[in-house]
Amino acid sequence: MLFSQPIFVAKPILPDLLEFTNSLSEVWASHKLTNSGPKLKQLEFRLQSVLKANNVSLFNNGTIALMIACKALKLQGEVITTPFTFPATTHALAWCGITPVFCDIDSATLNIDSSKIESLITTKTTAILGVHVFGIPCAVNTIQEIADRHGLKVIYDAAHAFGVEMGGQGIGTFGDVSMFSFHATKLFHTAEGGALTFNDAAIKERIGLLRNFGIKSEEEVVLAGINGKMNEIQAALGLLLLDCITTEKEQRQRVGRCYREILRSCEGITIVTVFPTADFEPSSQYFVIRVDADKYGMSRDQLFVRLRNENIYARKYFYPLCSNLDCYRDLPSSVPYLLPVANRVADDVLVLPFYGELTDIDVRKICSVIVK
Ligand SMILES: *Cc1c(COP(=O)(O)O)cnc(C)c1O
Repeated sequence: MLFSQPIFVAKPILPDLLEFTNSLSEVWASHKLTNSGPKLKQLEFRLQSVLKANNVSLFNNGTIALMIACKALKLQGEVITTPFTFPATTHALAWCGITPVFCDIDSATLNIDSSKIESLITTKTTAILGVHVFGIPCAVNTIQEIADRHGLKVIYDAAHAFGVEMGGQGIGTFGDVSMFSFHATKLFHTAEGGALTFNDAAIKERIGLLRNFGIKSEEEVVLAGINGKMNEIQAALGLLLLDCITTEKEQRQRVGRCYREILRSCEGITIVTVFPTADFEPSSQYFVIRVDADKYGMSRDQLFVRLRNENIYARKYFYPLCSNLDCYRDLPSSVPYLLPVANRVADDVLVLPFYGELTDIDVRKICSVIVK
């Protein structure tokens, strides 16, 4: 085995433990553990500028945040979405009693194919839910035009897109609402956590009510809310980690460059991950390749096993497709021949270990398994 310890795709960053316990002393002294405490307010405030977003609300996790986004916009009926995502995207719709309508993906960006959205719109459609998969932005302008033409809302699952900017604009400013996940495996995290960003301040109150059982005042409960609150310990962790992001991103850029140097000349391997340009700031969350079995001489699954045999835990994100899961496969839009690109990509995509602590030597060792 090339590695004596398992190498996973992600390794959560952590703040200095002493700094964290110092910050926790403030929480202990206040006895304020949750319910919109000072740490939460401070983190919401700081994220507004980090994400270049007009409004930020924090939650206990990204999935609840996404469900609350659907409720805040009063979505019902059908929502057009991508099958090439983490199951939480589709589950959030299902938990809100909404029927997911799967749309095929674009073979270059791996995001919802905007040219196929319009043919899926029915009288029941209320919104489009895109995912900025691997931090690569959806066709946000085209999607907005379609939504405007048909009176639909637009939600983005930006769980992979922390810090992504297009032409200096934060990715969370597109559409009506965007969701960020702060799960431990994401670039920025609060162990568990999530956020919504949105432009229209008028929905902030409704989002706040949905997050806290619909409680408006001591004796007034105005809607069927849920418990979506982020606590002070999560927020304290997030505040310290915000200061670690720049260094971690720089390290990941180095790791990414190292992978690219070696893999770009490898026959049958395509690099999906996008690198920074003058008007695009990427997410640095994943390093993703696609394996062309014919040209490479080995399938994605065979390469996956080869890596596993060397203690390298690559991940087949996103296989299986949401449209092929038992809970969604019987939907009319789930038929594989309607989703040819998504089904092909799910069979050839592979996410490689990617975090700042990986050394160039580690990357070369991983690549030595890929480049024969
Ligand atoms: C991580 C992730 C989620 C779920 O977020 P949680 O914070 O774990 O609930 C949703 N969508 C995508 C695409 C994700 O990667």
